[in-house]
Amino acid sequence: MKFCSRCGHQVFSKIPEGDTRERFVCDSCKTIHYENPRNVVGTIPVWEDKVLLCKRAIQPRLGFWTLPAGFLEVGESTTAGAIRETFEEAGAQIEIGALFSLLNVIHAEQVHLFYLAQLKEPIFSPGIESLEVALFSESEIPWDDLAFPTIRKTLEWYFSDRKLGVIHFGEPTFSTHLDDIGYDERIDRKYRSS
Ligand code: ZN
Repeated sequence: MKFCSRCGHQVFSKIPEGDTRERFVCDSCKTIHYENPRNVVGTIPVWEDKVLLCKRAIQPRLGFWTLPAGFLEVGESTTAGAIRETFEEAGAQIEIGALFSLLNVIHAEQVHLFYLAQLKEPIFSPGIESLEVALFSESEIPWDDLAFPTIRKTLEWYFSDRKLGVIHFGEPTFSTHLDDIGYDERIDRKYRSS
């Protein structure tokens, strides 16, 4: 950040009084510009034994498959955001269940949350951010063409829990998965160049 988004003056990086980290501070209007991780909310939409995936029509990772997910908006709950993203990207109406996975993507300054979801009907269509939307059984999942590590992890956990019979639609019990996706230069480079 170079200029204050509030008044347009130059900002400087310094530790504000009483704080422990450097922030961009505007000397003119005194605004401290905090930068915090952003929330990405999504769902694992299921119809019978199949999971709904979207082929991305936008960068990053254009042409790769993802669970419907996107940035949480101000004024929105995480479940409302997940329902909205599922409709926007996949044209699907869902009943939302329990939180299933929470992943810290520290290098990308994001937190990803995925909820269990059931399609109300097997009706879906690509939104403007998707090229294609389709249902996949476990053996049909395009594992080599998934968009992000958090999608792969969530799908791996989902199918392994389903085999164990420990998924309870409305209950975030021990089947809720938490993970830190560490910085991986190889993956990061691949994402940037695609
Ligand atoms: Zn300012």
